[in-house]
Amino acid sequence: MDSKMTGEPHDELRPPSRDGRNPVRFGLLRRGGPILTRARRALAFKLVVAAGLTGSMLLELVDAYLGLLLATAFVLITVLLDYWVYRAVNDLFTRIQNRNQVARVASEVDALHAGLEQLIGGVRGRFSGLEALEVETIRSDLYRLRDFNNQLLRLGEIAQELNAALPYRETKMKALGLSRQLLSADIVALVAEDGGEFTLGGVAGCEEGEIKVDCCGYYARCPMRASFRDRRPATAADHTCLMFPPTMRAQISLPFKLDGRRTMSLLAAAAQPRAFEELSSVVLETLVGHVQTSLSTALKYDRIRREVVTDPLTNLYNRRFFEKRAREEVARALRHQQPVTLLMLDVDRFKSINDVYGHQTGDKVLQTVAKHLRDSVRQSDICGRYGGEEFVLLLPNTPGRNAVFLADRLRSGVGDIMYTGLGIPGDVAITISGGVATCPRDATTLEELVGRADTALYEAKNAGRNRIVQAGIPDPPLEPEYVEPPQPRRSGRRVS
Ligand code: GH3
Ligand code: MG
Ligand code: MG
Repeated sequence: MDSKMTGEPHDELRPPSRDGRNPVRFGLLRRGGPILTRARRALAFKLVVAAGLTGSMLLELVDAYLGLLLATAFVLITVLLDYWVYRAVNDLFTRIQNRNQVARVASEVDALHAGLEQLIGGVRGRFSGLEALEVETIRSDLYRLRDFNNQLLRLGEIAQELNAALPYRETKMKALGLSRQLLSADIVALVAEDGGEFTLGGVAGCEEGEIKVDCCGYYARCPMRASFRDRRPATAADHTCLMFPPTMRAQISLPFKLDGRRTMSLLAAAAQPRAFEELSSVVLETLVGHVQTSLSTALKYDRIRREVVTDPLTNLYNRRFFEKRAREEVARALRHQQPVTLLMLDVDRFKSINDVYGHQTGDKVLQTVAKHLRDSVRQSDICGRYGGEEFVLLLPNTPGRNAVFLADRLRSGVGDIMYTGLGIPGDVAITISGGVATCPRDATTLEELVGRADTALYEAKNAGRNRIVQAGIPDPPLEPEYVEPPQPRRSGRRVS
C-alpha cells in the first residue's frame, strides 16, 4: 500500500535499501521528502531572495554583474550545504529511529522472554513439586502392580503344573516347591492339625528334622495357631518361631481343608523380617486354593488308584494288577538275566474253616494270613491275592533255592499264628501249602511260570499239605528239613 494513502511518515519506517544507503535523497524538487525538506526549501527561497536583494543592492552599489555572480555562488553553496547537511541529519535521524525501534522490539522480546522464563519456571516448579510428592507414589504403585500381575501369571502356571502332578506325594512336593518360589520364602511346610496335635506333612527348603511342629504355644499371636484357630491366613513379622530354624524372622500361615475334612496349613518362613508384608491377599488366597484343590484331587486319585489295584478284603494287590506287575518283572528278569521267582500259596482245607467257624471268621483268617505274608517279605516283593484262599508272591532277583527257603519260613509262620481271638480253638492248626517256580530256570513267560508254580502247589497238596514244593528238579534246600504237617499246638502268636 502506498504510504501517502495511509498518511504514514513513509521515510521514517522505510527500510534501508539493499546497498545499505538510505533511499531518501536530498532534493529540493523531490516529492515526498522528509519534513525538513519543506523548511529547507523555504530557507533556500529566502536565501535566494535575500541573495537577489543583496545582489541588486550590490549591483546598485558595486557592480550589477559582480552582485549576480556572488548571488549565484551563494545559492550554490547553500544548495551544496543543504545537500550534505540534510543527508547527514537525515541519516542521523533514521539511525536514531531505527535504534529506537530495535530498542523497542528488543525490550518487547526481553519482556516476552522474561514471561516465557517465568512460565517455564512455573511449569518446572510444578513438575518438580509433582515429582517430589506424587511421582514416587505412582512409580511404587506401578511396580506393585507389575509384581502383582507377574504373581497372577505365575499362579496360572502353578495351577497348571499342580494339576499335571497326580499322585499325592508328587503333588505335595511340587506344591511346596512352587509355593516357596512364589512367596520368595526360605522354608515352606505343610502341617496337619488333628485335635490340637500338629503333624508335619512335608517341607521344602530345609530338612524335615529342622521343623518342630510343637512350636511356641506361649506366643499368643503365633501365626500357625492363630490360622488354625481362626481358619484364615495369619502372619508374623520380625518374630522368631521355635517351629523354624532361629534365622527365620517372618512367617505366614495359610490354612485350608484337605479333601473337605482334614485341617491343614501351608506355612512359609523367611529370614527377612518383613518378607511377606507386600503380598496381596488375592495372591495368597489363590495360591492356597490351588494347593488345596491339587492336594485334594491327588488324594482322590491315590484312593481310586489304590482301589483299582487292591483286593478289598486283604489289601494285597488284586490278581489283575499282580499279573501286570509280574509281567513287567519277568521281562526285566529276562532282559537282565536275573532270576525272578513266583510263590503260589494256598490255605489248606480252608473250606472246612468256613464251614465250621463261619464265612466271616474265614475272611478274618484270610486277612491275617495276608498281613503275615505282606509283613514277612521285602518292600520290593510283590504280594497279591490270586483268588479265594490263594496268594501269590513275586520275588525279584531271587533264585528258586532262596525262594523255597523263604516260602517255608512263611509256611511255618502262618502255622504258628494263634487264631483264638477269631474264635478258632488254639488246638486247630491253619496251614498253607506252596509251589515255587523261577524264571528263567523253569519258565520264560508269566503264564508258563504260573502254570509251573500251580503244578508244584498241586504236588504239595497231594504230598499231604503244609509243605512247599519247587517246580522241576528241586535245588538242594537251604534248610533241608520241612516241618511235619501241623499238629494241635499250645503256643504261638495270637490274633485278636
Ligand atoms: P485245599 O487244601 O485242597 O486247598 O482245600 P480247600 O478247602 O482250601 O480248597 P477248596 O478249593 O475246596 O475250598 C476253597 C474255599 O475257600 C471255598 C471257598 O468258599 C473259600 N473261599 C474262597 N474265597 C473266600 C473268601 O473270600 N472268604 C472266605 N471266607 N472264604 C472263601
Ligand atoms: Mg485251599
Ligand atoms: Mg484253593
